[in-house]
Formats: sequence, C-alpha cells, structure tokens
Amino acid sequence: MRGRDILHDPMLNRGTAFTEEERDHLGLHGLLPPRVETQQEQVARIIEQCDRKPSDIERYIFLMAQQDRNEALFYRTIIDHLRKIMPLVYTPTVGEAGQEYGHIFRSARGLYVTADDRGSIDRVLANWPERDVRVIVVSDGERILGLGDLGANGMVIPIGKLVLYTAAGGIDPTKTLPILLDVGTNNESLRADPMYLGLSQPRLVGAEYVEFVDEFLEAVDNVFPNSLIQFEDFSTPNAHKLLERYRNRHCSFNDDIQGTAGVVLAGLLAALRITGDDLADQRLVLLGAGAANTGISDLLIRALVEGGMNEDEARLRTWLIDSRGLVVRSRTDLEAHKLSFAHEHEPMTDLLEIIEAIKPTALIGATGHPGTFDRPALEAMARINERPIVFALSNPTSKSECTAEQAYEWTDGRVVFATGSPFDPVEYGGKTFVPGQGNNVYVFPGVGLGVMVSKATRVTQEMFLDAARALANIVTQERLDRGSIYPRLAEIRKVSAAIAVAVCRRAVEQGLARAELPEDLESHVEAAMYSPEYTPLD
Ligand code: NAD
Repeated sequence: MRGRDILHDPMLNRGTAFTEEERDHLGLHGLLPPRVETQQEQVARIIEQCDRKPSDIERYIFLMAQQDRNEALFYRTIIDHLRKIMPLVYTPTVGEAGQEYGHIFRSARGLYVTADDRGSIDRVLANWPERDVRVIVVSDGERILGLGDLGANGMVIPIGKLVLYTAAGGIDPTKTLPILLDVGTNNESLRADPMYLGLSQPRLVGAEYVEFVDEFLEAVDNVFPNSLIQFEDFSTPNAHKLLERYRNRHCSFNDDIQGTAGVVLAGLLAALRITGDDLADQRLVLLGAGAANTGISDLLIRALVEGGMNEDEARLRTWLIDSRGLVVRSRTDLEAHKLSFAHEHEPMTDLLEIIEAIKPTALIGATGHPGTFDRPALEAMARINERPIVFALSNPTSKSECTAEQAYEWTDGRVVFATGSPFDPVEYGGKTFVPGQGNNVYVFPGVGLGVMVSKATRVTQEMFLDAARALANIVTQERLDRGSIYPRLAEIRKVSAAIAVAVCRRAVEQGLARAELPEDLESHVEAAMYSPEYTPLD
C-alpha cells in the first residue's frame, strides 16, 4: 500500500508522525503538512481539540472518529489520559451515545447479527475481515447500563468495552470483535424513530431467542475457535440463563455477574488488609438481588469454600435483600437466580432491622436506587463493627446508595468505603479519605488477557478468585492508609498484567490451557500486550 490508501487505513496511518524516510518510501510527500510530529505532539492536539468540544457527546463523536483515522494514536491518547478519556468513551457518555446512536451514527463498526440471519449466522461472522479474533464482547441491547432496552443502539457497549480491553488490557485491537445481537426491541420510542438503525420489531423471546443465541455460539466456535466471549448488558434473567447454559460449553463469561464479583471481592480483600480481619469471619448483607449482588455472593462463597469452609456455612455468610425484602426460603416470589441464596429466616423488609438481626461486617448496595443506605442503617453498621465495610455500587454517581460524605460522617470516619462511580475525596475529622471506585475495568481486561495468552478453553470462577486476589494485593499501603481499596487507574496495565499472570497459572492448574507457557510468565504476558507505539516501518 502507498500514498492516500495508507492515510485512509486506521491501522497503518500515522498522519503527521510519518518520518521523512517513511514519506519518501511510501509516496506520502505533499499529502501531509511538512512538519513531522511526535506521537506525543499529536496526542496534545487531540486533547486540545477534545477540550474545545461543547459537550461530552460531541467529545465521544470526535474520539470515536479518531479511532477510524489512526488507531494507534487513539489508544495512545486513552492510555496517557485514562482518567479523562475513559468516561468519554465508556460510562457515562456511552449511555448518552446509545440513546442517540441512530442520530450520531457516522460509520459502522463491529458486527450486527440479526434475527433475520437465522440459519446463516456463520456466513455473517465469516464476513468479518480478521480471522484470528481472540476477544468478542456481545450484547443484545436489552439492558444497556441503567437505561433499559436500547435495541441495536446497544452496539456502543461492545465497542466501548473492547476499547477498554485494548487500552487497559493490551489486547491487540485487530483481535477484538464487538457484536450486537439484534433480536428486535421492545422500546416503542426507538421503533417509532425514523433514524433507528436496528430491526423495527418486537424482541424474540422464549425458545426462539435461545435457539438464536445457540446458533450464534456454535457459529462463533466454528469461525473464531480461539475466541473468548464476554456477555454484556443482557436482561438479568437472560444473563443468568445464558451464563448457566454456556459456561461449561464455551469459553465465555458474563461481566455484569462475574466481572463485578471479581472487582468487589478484590475490594473486600483489600478492605480486610485495612481492618486486619479474615475473610472467614465476614458476613455480608447485600441490598439488591440482581446480576451484581448474586454474582458477588456466588464468588464469595467460592472463596470461603476454597479457604476450607464447608459450603452450607459459607452460604450463611451472604444475605440478599431484593425490593420485596430479605431473600428467605418461605417466599414464593423468588426468581430462579435468587433461590440458591435464600435462607431459613423469618421474612423481613426493613434494612435497619435486617442489619440488627444479621449483624453484617459488610454492607453492599447494587440496587440502582439512591438514598437506600440511610443514616440509621450506616449508624447501625458503625455500632456493630469497629471498621464497617460499606460499598455503594450503583451507577452513575447520582444513583449511589449513599454519598461518600454521608458514609464517613454517619460512621464517625470509621467506614472502609467504596463506590461504583467516582466521588471526590472527603475531609472528615482532620483526615482526607479517598473512596475507592470499584470499576469493572480493573478485572475484565486482565482476565481476557490471561485467557488469550494461556489459550484457556473455559473461563472459571477460580480464575475470577485469583484475579480478585491479584487486584487486592497490588493496592499499595499508601492507598490503603487513605482508605482507598483499589489501585490508581494510571496503573491499570500493570494491574491487568498481574491478573493475566494469575489467570494463566489457574488455567494451567485446571488443565484448561492450550498454550505452552514459559517459566517467566510475567515477561511473557507483558510481551503479549499491544502497545500503540509507532515502531519503525520496514
Ligand atoms: P439488576 O437490575 O440486575 O439488579 C438490581 C436489583 O436491585 C433488582 O433485583 C431490584 O429488584 C433490586 N432493587 C431495586 N431497588 C431496591 C431497593 N430499594 N431495595 C432492595 N432491592 C432493590 O442490576 P445489577 O446489574 O445488579 O446492577 C445494580 C447496580 O449496580 C446498577 O446501578 C449498576 O450500575 C451497579 N453496578 C456497579 C458495578 C461496579 O461498581 N463495578 C458493577 C455492576 C453493577
């Protein structure tokens, strides 16, 4: 390839950073302004242009267009400015992009597999230009973030997640594939929107839906046999159903359930580094019994059982509350995914009374409803525990179960607190507390990297346990001293590498690794990570 074709290929284009020699060699003289820039100078211009945009959605459009022009520069910018750019290419801005996708659409990215493709899904997958796909993120758009059914607009999520896989986990972008399963949408306003780009029909449901997803999974195994499939933003009942159906048949996991669990268990383990307590002595009350909290409960039980506790005892360490009260055996209204966590106990509905009865060491909220951790509940946590652990995970910040200020104030500054969305540091009692943010990005890119490097045939709960341990161990004492139980985002690639090493080791131990792995796994993993440097062209 020469000349303009190179400048129009995002994988090859370096724009103003092409050197004099490269310009000679590739026929680029005159097609670019004369000054040769470094990648850092290019990044500075992107940041300046991004800052000039009037709104975050405009910044999203601008940045995603950058991905279509010069992929290495796009990733260099994200990696160097992760705290600034991540909220623009992923939550919260990606939610707004999803709501408006038909209107802001410029060019297609990723693969759409629709209900009309039934019977020939493998042919659709074969249209993807890359053969060695290693990480697929797939959604059916039914429960996008907290926004509900966005149909085909849900494509923004697989795209955004894979951007993070590359930026945070070093997965080569040519080996990633975002897929949207368009099974229709029940969102009437989308279907009525003339700019909507998906199938304008009600969703497939029941057996038809499952048969469609079955055919998709089989086609993935045929066309991309070395790929990991991450399920993302399916409705909670479907998320659980598909996870159970495929976890032992395909190399797959669900990030809303298992990724969240890994991040939260890591937070709990790091919190115990602060309190000095043992995991075996913990008892959790979890408000909200959806994908996040059932996933967390399941992984905690695994951790306790692996530590030597019998399973019945381990199950008694997690108590779920849904919108109708404590999840207990006598209830007849429990959905399938809650049943295994139901306990023999009298029905209760009031959070304070439940806290007084169960006496949890940790209180975890994943309800999507703000204000659900009130003053009496947090004061009770502080009465029962010298160092109560409280995680308010709901996103975005406005939905958090309580604010960081409330958490520190109502517990006399004794709480170990983490959130799902960012909160500013809090001054209390002459001390500055920095609440940790339990973002899933701390775990899924590292798990994906580990699965890719080891060529693991399955993703297991034990891999998430080890990922959680690796993440908890990497938090510095200095962070813990300020009450922060997660590492700095700037360290994310180091975190992903450490998790990947742990996942590789577990894959070997479980007999799931297909790759020959060397003794020095750390260097091997690092060498496998994509870096957006402009290396000299041959
Ligand atoms: P979900 O819809 O599967 O589950 C929410 C559950 O909360 C439902 O069972 C609902 O009935 C219950 N609920 C709602 N209001 C309640 C109330 N007042 N009391 C008790 N239960 C109540 O959603 P999910 O995927 O589990 O996510 C829940 C929240 O957690 C979301 O806000 C999400 O953004 C957040 N989350 C954060 C992280 C993270 O921080 N890493 C990860 C995943 C999810």
